[in-house]
Amino acid sequence: MSDQSSPAIRFSSATREEALGRVDGFAHSMGSVYARSRNDDLGPEDRHNVSCLSPYVRHRLVLEEELVARALADHGPQRAEKFIQEVVWRTYWKGWLEQRPSVWADYTVSRSAVWDNVIQNKPLLAHYDKAIQGGTGIACFDFWANELVATNYLHNHARMWFASIWIFTLKLPWELGADFFLRHLIDGDAASNTLSWRWVGGLHTAGKTYLARADNIEQCTGGRFSPKPGDLADVALPLGEVDHPARTPIPHLLPVEKGLKTGLLITADDCTPENILDGLDVASVAALPLADTRSELDTARAVTEFEHAALTDALSRNRGEMLKQPADVLDWAKRNGLQQIVSPAIPVGWSRDAMASVIAELNDEGIVWREIRRSWDDAIWPHATAGFFKVKKQIPRVLEDFFDVKS
Ligand SMILES: Cc1cc2nc3c(=O)[nH]c(=O)nc-3n(C[C@H](O)[C@H](O)[C@H](O)COP(=O)(O)OP(=O)(O)OC[C@H]3O[C@@H](n4cnc5c(N)ncnc54)[C@H](O)[C@@H]3O)c2cc1C
Repeated sequence: MSDQSSPAIRFSSATREEALGRVDGFAHSMGSVYARSRNDDLGPEDRHNVSCLSPYVRHRLVLEEELVARALADHGPQRAEKFIQEVVWRTYWKGWLEQRPSVWADYTVSRSAVWDNVIQNKPLLAHYDKAIQGGTGIACFDFWANELVATNYLHNHARMWFASIWIFTLKLPWELGADFFLRHLIDGDAASNTLSWRWVGGLHTAGKTYLARADNIEQCTGGRFSPKPGDLADVALPLGEVDHPARTPIPHLLPVEKGLKTGLLITADDCTPENILDGLDVASVAALPLADTRSELDTARAVTEFEHAALTDALSRNRGEMLKQPADVLDWAKRNGLQQIVSPAIPVGWSRDAMASVIAELNDEGIVWREIRRSWDDAIWPHATAGFFKVKKQIPRVLEDFFDVKS
């Protein structure tokens, strides 16, 4: 259970039990407290106004629909509206990226190119190093850089301010800021992270960038920081045209085949697979850690340790073995004589990148690969075609379908 005496910011225990305990602990604040004060970043020792549940939700140790169900039960659809909308932002970003996978692919290509350029340019490299080491002289920014490295979490508003200062004041490449986040955030997520950085830089919504303002930082940090005139950029011009690739269909998943000797493969994208198996007879279970493929640079130890613990917890509920690397999947399948492997759907991002060659190898060996998508994603992703507004409009219908609640 959650240790309520410790600051919510410590993510020591990556288990479903801990996640559910934290949901219990935050439930009373999912209504008016959250609606009123969610934008305030009161510092790492006071997170009473936000849930700090993202590390657990991102690994699906607790599910989006479970958070929404709890908010509805304790506060009703009106008072829980803001909290529910924020939870649905995660699903929106995932659904959007799922229909434009090349945005992730392009990001990884340009991240490599930008990095190659930075390491050959000594002044730029020194500028980048100062930013990630909290040595820019902009007190709030330096604090958040250090907070990220020390706690592996940042408040949403701090993420927005940080990204804005990185891009518009420090004029560093956004791809490397996004990479710094991915390597250190326990909740690091290909969709939420890449698309939020793009949104701040004006690459997601035409005509919109996010400019960090001194008065807003002072007000929403309770006066912890008061940037001086001239500390922060006062204009934020878009980094480029909003030029989204054409949408591709959400991948059609074939049904699981009956009568085959079947293995379950768990990745950190969904650590509660047992509730989507629908009575499937599973002969063998394995978990595959992938967090160290988030970036070409090193992923923070706290991130890989959280992932390992989350997968260990999933294995404790599903009895299986931990694999070390993608290449081990085929060996596990062969050792156990598996004819089919099922997995919760693998989202666009480093997980799908890492699994692509594994799936090809399995196919070559005649082993059937099947993914199972959650009905929550099935219900929301088709609406994630443009801005969040289209998805927001669907929330009442989703609440009615899933929870029989009328808003
Ligand atoms: C530049 C930038 C990068 C980000 N990178 C990530 C990332 O890598 N991984 C990630 O999970 N989130 C990311 N976010 C979104 C958001 O900041 C975090 O999900 C949120 O701060 C998590 O804290 P919490 O659990 O206390 O949120 P709460 O405010 O308590 O919200 C409850 C839940 O709603 C969801 N949520 C809330 N706000 C958002 C949002 N803006 N986008 C998506 N989901 C949201 C999360 O699942 C969260 O746990 C990023 C935002 C920005 C601006």
